[in-house]
Order: sequence, then C-alpha cells, then structure tokens
Amino acid sequence: TYETNYIESLWWIIKEFHKRGLLYEGYKIVPWCVRCGTALSSHELGQPDAYKTVLDNSVYIRFKIKSEDKKFKNTSLLSWTTTPWTLPGNIALAININHKFVKIPDPDLENNFLILEEQSFKRLVEQKVFPSNFKNLKPELILKAKDLIGLNYEPLFDVEFLKSDKSYKVYEADFVSQEEGTGIVHTAVMYGEDDYNLGQKIGLPQKHTVDENGKFIENVPAVGGLEIISENKKNEETEKKIFDYLSQKGNLFKIVPYEHEYPHCWRCKTPIIYYARNSWFVAVNKVRKKLIQNNQKINWVPSHIKNGRFGQWLKEEKDWNFSRERFWGTPLPVWKCKNCKNIEVIGSIKELTKHLGQPKNKYFVMRHGESETQVKRIIDLGKKQYHLTTIGKDMVLRQAKKLLKEKIDLIFSSDVLRCKETAEIVSKVLGKEVIFDQRLREISLPSFEGLSIKAYHEAFPTYESRFEKRPENGESLRDVRARVWSFLSDLEKKYENKNILIISHEYPIWMLAQSAGGWDDKKAILEKEKREPDFIKVGEVKKLEFVLGPRNFSGEFDLHKPYIDAIQFDCKKCGGKMERVKEVVDVWFDSGAMPFAQSHWPFESGHKFNPKKDKPIGIDYPADYISEAIDQTRGWFYTLLAVATLLGFKSPYKNVICLGLVLDKYGKKMSKSIGNIVNPWEMMNKYGIDAVRWYLYTKTSSAEPKNFDPDEVLEVFKKIYLILYNSFVFWKMYSLNSGNILGLNLNKLKLSLLDKWILSRFYETLNIVTKNLNNYEIREALLPIENLINDLSRWYIRRSRRKFQKPENKNEFMASYYVLGFVLNNIAKIIAPASPFFAEALYAETKQFDKKPEDSVHISYWPEFNKKLFDKQ
Ligand SMILES: [Zn+2]
Ligand SMILES: [Zn+2]
Repeated sequence: TYETNYIESLWWIIKEFHKRGLLYEGYKIVPWCVRCGTALSSHELGQPDAYKTVLDNSVYIRFKIKSEDKKFKNTSLLSWTTTPWTLPGNIALAININHKFVKIPDPDLENNFLILEEQSFKRLVEQKVFPSNFKNLKPELILKAKDLIGLNYEPLFDVEFLKSDKSYKVYEADFVSQEEGTGIVHTAVMYGEDDYNLGQKIGLPQKHTVDENGKFIENVPAVGGLEIISENKKNEETEKKIFDYLSQKGNLFKIVPYEHEYPHCWRCKTPIIYYARNSWFVAVNKVRKKLIQNNQKINWVPSHIKNGRFGQWLKEEKDWNFSRERFWGTPLPVWKCKNCKNIEVIGSIKELTKHLGQPKNKYFVMRHGESETQVKRIIDLGKKQYHLTTIGKDMVLRQAKKLLKEKIDLIFSSDVLRCKETAEIVSKVLGKEVIFDQRLREISLPSFEGLSIKAYHEAFPTYESRFEKRPENGESLRDVRARVWSFLSDLEKKYENKNILIISHEYPIWMLAQSAGGWDDKKAILEKEKREPDFIKVGEVKKLEFVLGPRNFSGEFDLHKPYIDAIQFDCKKCGGKMERVKEVVDVWFDSGAMPFAQSHWPFESGHKFNPKKDKPIGIDYPADYISEAIDQTRGWFYTLLAVATLLGFKSPYKNVICLGLVLDKYGKKMSKSIGNIVNPWEMMNKYGIDAVRWYLYTKTSSAEPKNFDPDEVLEVFKKIYLILYNSFVFWKMYSLNSGNILGLNLNKLKLSLLDKWILSRFYETLNIVTKNLNNYEIREALLPIENLINDLSRWYIRRSRRKFQKPENKNEFMASYYVLGFVLNNIAKIIAPASPFFAEALYAETKQFDKKPEDSVHISYWPEFNKKLFDKQ
C-alpha cells in the first residue's frame, strides 16, 4: 500500500478484473459504520468479536389502513421492527402470499382492530405481547394474503420525498416468515437487503432518511437533524423521540426488550447499520464454482477446515464489496467523466501518463563548469567566492556553443558564484537574460561549510542516509527535491512551448531528474551509482526527462491520495473532464494480491501474463505453504485465493497450516483488562524461544486453541531441552578431536546390542517424523522425538556409562562414543525445523558425524533412512 510499485501491480490486477467484467459500481446495502464513515466487508464482519449480544427495543407498530371497505374500518396492520430508526424511512409493508391473517380487537384501543399473521398471533399471545385472555379469542375475521395485497395505509412520518403512487402499500414478498414479528414486515428500502431488493423490483423511491453520518435528513418530520448513533452507541434519546411521536399519533402498540447478536465495527466497536451506498464490487459470484474447485486442491491442516469452515464460507453467495471511503489506501484506479459518466480503469503508470500527454515545455539541465571547489573538494554554498577555473570557463563556452541549436528561450540559474559565472558565459553566447532562483542552490550543509566533501560523506556514508537525515540546520536530499520540484512545477505552470535551460549543481540536478522522471528513491540511487562519481559532470548539459503525474509535497512521484485526486484528463468519448472516483480499495485486497504485487508483477523483466496459463509467469508460484491463525479463513486465506481465482489462476498456496488461537491457561481469551496476558518476552527470556516454540507446536494439534500455561513451558524445558543438553554434556566430556573418528563409520565399528537398539530407535523415529512433516502434521512429528530423547538419556546413556568411564577395550569406547555423537547430530537435524537455535548449537558441536558437514544445520541434508541400521525387533 505504501510503495508505488506495489500499487502499480494492484492497479494492473484491478484493470484485469475490469476487462473480465468483474468490477462494477452498485447501489447496495452494506454494513456501514457511521463513526468510521465506511462500509465493512463480509470478511471484516467475520472477524472475531464482530458480533456482540445486545439488548435493543423491538417495537410493534400500527399501520392504519386507508380503505373504503367496511371490514377495514378503524383497522391497522400490525408490524414489527428491531431498528426503530428505520421507521421514518418506511414505504411499504410486505407479506407472504401463502400466509393467513387474523383480524382481532385491539386490546388497547376500544372499537379498533388489528390485522396480523395467524401463526404469529398465536406465538405473540404465548410471548405475552397480547393479554392472556386473547388465548381463546375467536378472530373477527380470517383473511387471505390476497385480501391485503395492494391495500393503502397512512404513512407514519409525513416524509415528502418518499411519496409516490407506489409508496405506502402492502406488497407480497417471499422472504417473510412466521418465525419472528407479526408476519407483516416493515420495509425501508435503503436499510436492508431484502427491503432494497423488493423496492428495486416494485420501483419504490430510493431516498435516504438518514445521512451517512447517522443523522436524520433535515426535512424528516419530528426527528430531522437528530443522530441515531452517538459516541459509538445507539442514541437512546432519538429513539425515545421516535416512540413519543408514534405514541402521540396512536401508531405505537408495544415496546418489548429484545436480546440479539448484533454486528459491530471491529475497528471502533460502533454498532453497524445496514445502509444503501454507492460502492464498487468485484463479482466473486461469477467465479464461485472455480473458487470451490481451487479449494479442493489445497491440503488443509487440519483437513476438516477444507469443506468445513472454509468450504462453507466459499459457498455463500456474495460479491466482494471492494471499495472504501477512506483516506489512506490504494486509490481505486477508476476515472469517471463528469459529463457523460464514461469510465476508464487505469492499469499502469505508463497508461496514466499517456493520458496526461507531454510537459508544456522542453527542459535542459546544465551543471556549472569546473570551479575551485571541485579542485579543492570543498563544500561551499556561496559564502566564499570560489571562481570557475580556466578549464571550467573553457568547457562552459564549448557547451554553450553546442546549445545554440536547441534554441533556448529562457535561462534559469542558481545564484552561487560558480553557477553565476557559468550562466554569464552561456547568456552571452545564447543572447538570453539569466533569471536567478535560490531554489537551484546546492544542498545546504551549514555545519560542513568550508570543510572537505569527505567530511560530509563520512558523516552520511550512504545515499539512503542523505535522503533521510538532515545535518544540523541543513537539508536532506528530500528537502532539496522538494524545492527543485516546486521550481520546476512553477515553470510548467507559467510557460508554454519554451525551451528552458536550468543551470545548477550536482545534487539539485540529480533531484530534479528524480522528481521529473518519477523515480522512487531506490531508482534514484541506482541511477546515481550508474554514473559515479558524479550524477552529472561539471559543464555537462542534459535533456531533462519529465513524466507528468502525481507528486507529493517532497516532489516524489506518489500515487496516493490526495495527489492522485488532482490528476484529471480528457474523456475520450465527449472531451469532458475525467476525475478519479474518491474511493480507495479494501486493504484485504492489498494483502490478497501479495503473491503478485510483492514482485511488482507483471512489470519486471521476465514477467508475463498468459490468460491461458493457470499461474503467473516469472515469479515463484504457488507457495508451498501458508500458516496463519484460524480467523484468516475469512481474511487472508480467503482473499489470497479469491484474487488468484479472479485472475484465472490456481490457488496461490498448496498447503495451509491453520493455527488455533492462543488463550490463557483456563481457555479464556487473553485481554489487558482481565490481566491474564502472558508476556511472550518473559517466557522467552526464562526458557528460551525454542522451548516456547516447542510448547506451542506440541500443546495441541495445529488448529486447536492453545491454553497457554507457563508451568507447562517449564515442563517442556525440563523434559526436552535439559535432558538433551545433559546428554550432550556427557558426550562432550569424553570428546575426542575429530581426527580420531576420521575414516570411522557405523559399518566398521563393532556395535553392542544397546548401540543397535538406540540406532533402531532413531531410524524408527526418523520415519515417523519425516512422514508427518511431509503432511504438515507438526505436533505428530515432534512428539516421537520427545520419546527418543527420553530413551537416549534414560536407557542408552545410563546403560552405556561404564563403556565411557571404564571401557574394556578401545572398540567398546569408540563404538559408544561414535553412536552417541551420531545420534545427537541427527537429533539436531530432526529438531531443526521446530527448534532452530538449539539445533544449530548442537549441530555445530557434532557436525563431524555428518556425512556432509555444512556451516549450518539449516542447510544440511535431512537424514536418510538406513535399512542396515534399523532392526525392528
Ligand atoms: Zn467504525
Ligand atoms: Zn465523457
């Protein structure tokens, strides 16, 4: 998200989506956070803790029927909602065509009647929404859905802009159930998915009664201007105003507390609302089949996640809500014509700059001729009057004559003496006046003034440091770049069709080249190194490559907001102004596109895209494995697979090791407020990182939650590391120098039964470890090693002690010594993947037993099974 190259890859992918017809703009109901001013994606709602149990007010509302028909006299339709703030937006009621309805007396209003669905009525009597004497009540009338469809009712709130010939009527809808409410569903088109779809079908007005900040629109009666959510919580006062208003008008039937699971913004904990937004979508539904197929080829550890948690998630019909209305992020590369709404998706920087055309003027840069500062290698910002040398004057004169053919219109120059003298010579030859500008001065290094250039180079040894750090009261390269860019963009604003010569010093010219060329710092340093020792030689003239496009305040080419939003170009269709849409892209896309964007694919040499191939050409793909916690089934695991599938590729990873969450020892989530957090640094400092790691690997199988108990880490430390270490120390006590074992091997030695036994134990273990590691079953791979370490110490070493201490002959000692060293060395290898540091130390001490000793255990060969040394019996 930060680097230009990364963004360029993302743009390329988005353009590819567009070409495939997968990118679309829609009016869609989205989970919306009024505090953050953003929609939440489905995988954001899938984050742990998004859903919380809350107590809301559900409310039963009378909708007064407007009808000449006698049977509807003084009669209301009874409806229900758990989101009272949507009531001013009501424009329809929905019922199911297959349901039956009852007309009953209104228990609270004499001579008035209520209509609701038959089964729901029975349930509501049970739930005591109606008085208990209603239990045996005979309804006045049983009605069919048909009798109600098309009925008009009085609007609850007299909202002018919601009125239409279709508003405030009863419609049929198949989503209405008997499980909740009254079987008559309150419909506010902009605040629910079912509502919106129904409104779309009927052609109801699509107008908001609440703005995007959660405030009622001013001209909504009774509640205009009020907030529905304040300070991350539902605004109870506003809700009360709604109830009071409805109560006064006789619409409020009953308020019943209602406990339910309600989604909240994972970022700020504000309850989300369902809200119709203009948003950009990626049509994941169009590739859903392929997504499910791609998943089938992934090896999931544990395997049940494939068709369980992850597989089920993939099956759900949903498009990717792709855009966010935020400041920081990858800008959506969509430009829209203000006039004809034509859309252009930009897939690369080249494509963008092509739209912008060429700079208005032609620019040349010239470095001053050789001066005394060059000869003396001294830093000078014009304080001392250093003149051009004779050689310097000559070279400038020669260059000036060459410049005649370029028809220079304007000369700009730094006012430092060596540039001034250069400009004077050029001015005379070209017959043009010189305009001096302080922004063209050499980099300001006051604390080095008069010192040698070497002193500066020693204080700032790398180019990176010169970009980033300022000497006392002086400038960094970025500062220089900011001022030369401001100079150049002024010229571009002020002049047209001019040939302009800029006379300056090495660093400002280098920074001009970077800024104008649109290079990032890396490229700037590369270009400088290519030209060492100087970016531009004294007296040299060059044409300045100038690429139009967004620059930030430091003159750097920058695709982020707000710079990119200033970029406009002409519409191909109508000649109108194309402006970028304001949205940025969902950050989950940035991470999901990682396999491509991290390599700046497909822009670097060797990269290629062939839509007929199931993988990108020129980069490593797919990855062997990915490992993350289980919550990423709706996060990173998902977006990685989705982006690849949308591009027509196979899965970007072959194996997934899905990890359970780490909890406290009682299985509770660790939290600062409860105070049950285990400080990982404390554990690592106490027992070593390898013991902590081993514990986490072996505590439970990978996807199971891990109830972290510090006492158990101590156990692991004692049971494995202490024993292994003591075994090593014992062996080391009898250590020979490696010359003594040169030429020996296990086949040549006469092995005792005990020697043969421990070797068999090792190879038996090796087989299990290898098999399980190949299957990414880590815990199952490590547990047998614990037994081997135990056997080595408790049986082999204990029973071999005498052979070390008082051997009967040399062979007896050598055999035991060799076998123990050999086994220790091989244990180092098989614990290396899980215990990198301890393994490295053990290997370094025992590598003379390796067939092919390496500098590190991590580049040594995995042990091979040796049939001859394995005796099952
Ligand atoms: Zn929020
Ligand atoms: Zn247009």
